[in-house]
Amino acid sequence: TQADPTPKNRRGPAPPDIAFTHPDRVYWPDAGITKKDLAAYYMAAWSRMGPFIVDRPLAILRCPDGLSGPRFFQKNTWKGMNAHILSIQDPMEKEDKKLIGVHDLDGLLGLVQSAALEIHPWEAPCADLEKPDELVMDLDPGEGVAWAQVLAAAQEVRERLEAAGLHAFVKTSGGKGLHVVAPLKPHAGWDATKAFCKTLAQGMAADTPALYVATISKAKRQGRILLDYLRNQRGATSVAPYSTRARPGAPVSMPLDWDELKTLTGPAEFTLRNAPARMTSAADPWADFNTARRVLAAPAAADDS
Ligand code: ATP
Ligand code: MN
Ligand code: MN
Repeated sequence: TQADPTPKNRRGPAPPDIAFTHPDRVYWPDAGITKKDLAAYYMAAWSRMGPFIVDRPLAILRCPDGLSGPRFFQKNTWKGMNAHILSIQDPMEKEDKKLIGVHDLDGLLGLVQSAALEIHPWEAPCADLEKPDELVMDLDPGEGVAWAQVLAAAQEVRERLEAAGLHAFVKTSGGKGLHVVAPLKPHAGWDATKAFCKTLAQGMAADTPALYVATISKAKRQGRILLDYLRNQRGATSVAPYSTRARPGAPVSMPLDWDELKTLTGPAEFTLRNAPARMTSAADPWADFNTARRVLAAPAAADDS
């Protein structure tokens, strides 16, 4: 039988099939945001966020008592998990160790029920865990780096990706920096993808050592931006577009148009509070993500240092 097309159904996603326990549990005390508020946000964000998280392994940051309680970063499924959450078998792992996934909005709401305040997908889909379908350059500003410098770094990463025949998209991390993401046609494996990203990061650091570093060493980061290419290896994750962060104010990782970098004030400008209005009033800045996939070319110069 047809579902009753009530006005509510026609406007948004189908109502969730999830029974929430403690819907009024406060997750972000500083902003007065509850579990129910988080579920409402993801229902509003679903049509844009879904494609970036469905059917791929996810790591989640769970905070059962919200920001003020303990937190744990979790990659594997657990006993008593909500039935809408998927179990994914990584062929390289033992059978008793399954990865977490979602196939639909109910799955995401199952994660909300489980106090997942951050959602971090792999860069490869379940359809082929050995072939990443995106790469992420994570820009991590060290102490004393001006925001304008982070914006300039993102532009330079974009130029270098485009010079390699890729398309680049930018988003706030919702934390301290920006992520530049290039959609890939699944072709190259993890080793080639990581090598490409390492070469790009090292090239930028070699050309402008006063501004950029490509090694994780904390001492070298003072006053510089770490071009963190290590998101791009098997099993690594990066926060999903539109995911909330477990930080005060409930910032979200927000996809942007490159033009918006002219006025972007910081990495946490967009939050669970202001994101829904933006999604209804402005066009999707990442609408072309899927058609912008390109095959990763071999890195220009391999560097094993
Ligand atoms: P920022 O802009 O502040 O750097 P970010 O999302 O780029 O934000 P982090 O929040 O530091 O960076 O996380 C970097 C990556 O490290 C995440 O995508 C995730 O894969 C991983 N990660 C985060 N928290 C943990 C944790 N507690 N344990 C293990 N890995 C983690
Ligand atoms: Mn980062
Ligand atoms: Mn990082």
